[in-house]
Amino acid sequence: MSNIVAIVGRPNVGKSTLFNRLLERREAIVDSTAGVTRDRHYGKSDWNGVDFTVIDTGGYDVGTDDIFEEEIRKQVQLAVDEATSIIFMMNVEEGLTDTDHEIYRLLRRSNKPIYIVVNKVDSAKEELAATEFYQLGIEKYYTLSSATGSGTGDLLDDIVKDFPTTEYKDPFEGLPKITIAGRPNVGKSTMTNALLDVERNIVTDIAGTTRDSIQTLYNKFGHEFVLVDTAGMRRKSKVNEDLEFYSVMRSIRSIEYSDVVIIMVDATQGWESQDMNIFGLAQKNRKGIVILVNKWDLIEDKQTNTMRDFEKSIKDKIGQFQDIPILFVSALTKQRILKAVDVAMEVYEDRKKKIKTSKLNEVMLPIFENTPPPALKGKYIKIKYCVQLPTPSPQFVFFCNLPQYVKEPYKRFTENQLRKEFGFTGVPIEVYFRQK
Ligand code: GDP
Ligand code: GDP
Repeated sequence: MSNIVAIVGRPNVGKSTLFNRLLERREAIVDSTAGVTRDRHYGKSDWNGVDFTVIDTGGYDVGTDDIFEEEIRKQVQLAVDEATSIIFMMNVEEGLTDTDHEIYRLLRRSNKPIYIVVNKVDSAKEELAATEFYQLGIEKYYTLSSATGSGTGDLLDDIVKDFPTTEYKDPFEGLPKITIAGRPNVGKSTMTNALLDVERNIVTDIAGTTRDSIQTLYNKFGHEFVLVDTAGMRRKSKVNEDLEFYSVMRSIRSIEYSDVVIIMVDATQGWESQDMNIFGLAQKNRKGIVILVNKWDLIEDKQTNTMRDFEKSIKDKIGQFQDIPILFVSALTKQRILKAVDVAMEVYEDRKKKIKTSKLNEVMLPIFENTPPPALKGKYIKIKYCVQLPTPSPQFVFFCNLPQYVKEPYKRFTENQLRKEFGFTGVPIEVYFRQK
């Protein structure tokens, strides 16, 4: 499962500058529900071919000293709970402060690797000034200029090198993995319990208990799969303003481990930005997606168009990937929950479906023949051959003479044709054009 690197430090030391540099062109996911805390961000990065997730734990903008202390404590707690590695950032401009001492004291209590970084070291002059930070009682720090990127390479080399390498043996190798993701209180636990048909104990959140996902084998009604439970989901965590952020952080891991993500939303609330975050995560990780609109029993005035309108309101917000099953269920009354399982399994099957090369060419080449990509600068694009790659989720390569001339609308057209011909509902598809 994915390694998580958290960036911790006082406001203004340069955390988000480093964060943005690590993400480069990748998209960040913004959590703006954090109250007095500035937006938190997380996103994917990689170094030397090793993928990891980065969290910018944020900071606070305004507030009294009390809030400040509280925010820092939370920031540190988040890092310690969720991260594999922690970057503790200070800056040479302001020098070593009392708050830095305090943060370091809190961090040191964890046994996670901590990388101490002195930022804003833009020149040799600051390099010398940085020696002040030895006063923390440390052996080593990294000097960085987040603004220019200098120093980031050495830091990342070490962080990535220290990632735990223990090979995780998946006890459920080969079985479909399905996770139910969604904002707090949408009904995930109720759904899980309804499916598993057991009342799970809801234990209080004990600090330090494992945060890893709970996996339960489901074997009923002709389906066998593993229900991957975001840790702490059935266990109710303490209610605080960070609940949503924590729940999304945890979903990252469950989503990465799963084949299909059931995104559950509350019918009385509709599709919100956190739902979009989860959707984006699932899509970027190329997982199968099913949307369940739960608590449908609470919608009293159901007209013929109610479902259609609701479905449209979701589709208007989710962007170009529209070919997604949306079901209306009630976890409480168990209405249509088995249907939801059927559909999730269909999506699972479609995601691993491989189209024979001969069949693919037989179907797709005539389509390209009839509707070729528009000529560009007087040049005609000829698609000659296509294959599906042997990847876990569908990816197709189309070989042609001038791949650089194939633009986004035509790629979308190609994707839509693949969906129409072969049926990949709920499955993200990648389409590539390559030189032949
Ligand atoms: P955060 O509050 O810790 O996330 O800090 P930011 O990343 O927002 O940076 C605070 C300010 O410091 C911004 O004006 C940045 O442009 C600036 N800054 C960040 N990194 C560097 C650096 O390496 N050198 C210099 N000179 N300024 C920097
Ligand atoms: P979670 O935080 O997503 O796991 O949500 P829970 O499963 O704990 O549900 C939150 C609340 O919504 C509880 O009070 C449930 O009883 C209620 N709930 C869950 N599903 C339904 C449903 O389908 N209909 C109704 N009316 N209430 C539901």
